[in-house]
Amino acid sequence: MQSHISVILDKALADVSLSAADGYELAACSAEDLPALLAAAGALRDRYKGRTVTYSRKVFLPVTNLCRDRCSYCTFRKDPRDPAAWTMTPEEIRDWVERGRAQGCKEALMCLGDKPEKAYSQYRKTLARFGHATTTAYVYHACEIALAHGLLPHTNAGVLSYEEMKLLKQVNVSLGLMLENISPRLRQKGMPHFSAPDKEPAVRVRMLREAGELAIPFTTGILIGIGETWAERVDSLLAIREIHQTYGHIQEVIVQNFRAKPDTRMAGAPEPDSTDMAKTVAIARLLLGGRMNVQAPPNLNPADHKLLLRAGINDWGGISPVTKDYVNPEAAWPHLERLAQTCREEGFTLRERLAIYPEYIDRPGFLVPALRPRTQELYAQVMA
Ligand code: SF4
Repeated sequence: MQSHISVILDKALADVSLSAADGYELAACSAEDLPALLAAAGALRDRYKGRTVTYSRKVFLPVTNLCRDRCSYCTFRKDPRDPAAWTMTPEEIRDWVERGRAQGCKEALMCLGDKPEKAYSQYRKTLARFGHATTTAYVYHACEIALAHGLLPHTNAGVLSYEEMKLLKQVNVSLGLMLENISPRLRQKGMPHFSAPDKEPAVRVRMLREAGELAIPFTTGILIGIGETWAERVDSLLAIREIHQTYGHIQEVIVQNFRAKPDTRMAGAPEPDSTDMAKTVAIARLLLGGRMNVQAPPNLNPADHKLLLRAGINDWGGISPVTKDYVNPEAAWPHLERLAQTCREEGFTLRERLAIYPEYIDRPGFLVPALRPRTQELYAQVMA
């Protein structure tokens, strides 16, 4: 008799949408079932994505590390009085964009803390000195600088309103916000998002939906190992799937693993291990289907690149030849040549992509016309 797990895997391979109950069963599978789980996820990826795995060559621009939230695992955010607090000046943005361009980067990743102007008067003065009243207006300007230098902006500025996204769509090829997890439990006292109002799942779901209404190619994902249960991981992936089924705008889903950092409240918390990560990636692939782009960060899993390929990813995300990962500064990007070699050893070709996936470049309503010529030019370059 077929086991429950193999029945579910057959369903996924037959492109039948898996239910929450199926997802919970996969999450509870035994160690003996794990190879079959990974194999099915890999086969589904192969059928839709082939043996090509992509990355985006980017320059990482941490526009400001001020943030009104306090997530228990974060070392990126700083208070204004902290000597390590910064807000990049327009000149610094221009300088780094130029360095990125010189190194062949095509993506300008604008990454910043959430709503600092709501919390810090000093920061409001800094913005005013730059000639802007809001962070969004400043980020818009930063994106204009990147575009003027031929780079394609992708902004992850935390929770944005409908109007803010509508504005930023004019100067971004895509936007991003990690859902992280759908469970409000993680906002309770003692949990990692207790002091992070912008991590309220309903608020993040609202933004994901509004990005869909605005037809913005969108990057989201889950953060694993922050105190969530397996069922909550499955629920989070299914929430993303439901939003994508409604609007069709989720261009990629990241499975990111928590890394414990010194001097944080979660410094002593256990990190997800290789099996945990691979199993979650495989479940993401099986729940989201073969068409979705599924990504895992290579710098947070340096010893597991082959395992993650086997588990069903088809993308490594942004990799920078010029800037570090400011959110995980201790985790160096892999050397591209070495990553390409690892991919080859597993039977994959590593290929560059843009910050907008090809399926959204010509899709009516998504990329604004002003950004199309440069995007098409760069797309021709990465496909050459
Ligand atoms: S993870 Fe993001 S929202 Fe949370 S404190 Fe850090 S910068 Fe702020």
